[in-house]
Amino acid sequence: MKYTEISHFSHPQHKLKFENSEFPFKCDGCKEVGIGSRYKCTMCDFDLHMHCAIPAPKIFHSFYTKCSFQFFSRPPGDKPRFCNACERDVTGFVYHCKDCGFDLHPCCAKLPMVLNDGEIKLYLYRKVSASCLKCGRKGRSWTYRSSCKKYNLHVACVKDMLMENWQGYIGEKSARKFHTRIPSLKNTLLIHNGRKSKSKIGWEMAGLALQFVISAVLGDPTTLIAGVIGSMISKAW
Ligand SMILES: [Zn+2]
Ligand SMILES: [Zn+2]
Ligand SMILES: [Zn+2]
Ligand SMILES: [Zn+2]
Ligand SMILES: [Zn+2]
Repeated sequence: MKYTEISHFSHPQHKLKFENSEFPFKCDGCKEVGIGSRYKCTMCDFDLHMHCAIPAPKIFHSFYTKCSFQFFSRPPGDKPRFCNACERDVTGFVYHCKDCGFDLHPCCAKLPMVLNDGEIKLYLYRKVSASCLKCGRKGRSWTYRSSCKKYNLHVACVKDMLMENWQGYIGEKSARKFHTRIPSLKNTLLIHNGRKSKSKIGWEMAGLALQFVISAVLGDPTTLIAGVIGSMISKAW
């Protein structure tokens, strides 16, 4: 459900307006990166992912059938917490299962089980026993896997990649800087993977897979956003 304007408990002084951002932003709810749909207070430069702006009090996830995840605006307890999906720290909004102590970022909890644009289909798994395109490791965090099973990408690795590349940019308004930072996504993949002999077609497919996973991980898996990122990546590819 999309509203053009909402009031939010985390920013009671002003209304938040819905907008589409083609540049990355830092969500003031979960403290993670976002792109695409967001709720914003322009006066204070306060941003929320759609999933963070309109959270459900309680959710269930098909990977953890016995769990009931409750929404918290800050991580419960004093111990540092991390997200079971992406392995990153939980420092803001979180879905938490009291029984098991599992945590999920709001956007991670809402990662689509299937990303499909007609050409490429990626399925979300809790664990995959094949090497990740970026880190080469097996297991680890949640993974998107192509239907041909050739491409596996950890949700954690996609987030790492974005943080490495966008560090220092997030929150700034310069679009130029953002564009110049995109090409290093390709370098990251090549350096860590070392499969230089791979055919160009293979890399294009990997790039396509990557752009879908990126937009999903950033909280808005729409084709529009995938297209925006895609056009920037393909320039570099
Ligand atoms: Zn958020
Ligand atoms: Zn405000
Ligand atoms: Zn549980
Ligand atoms: Zn997460
Ligand atoms: Zn990986």
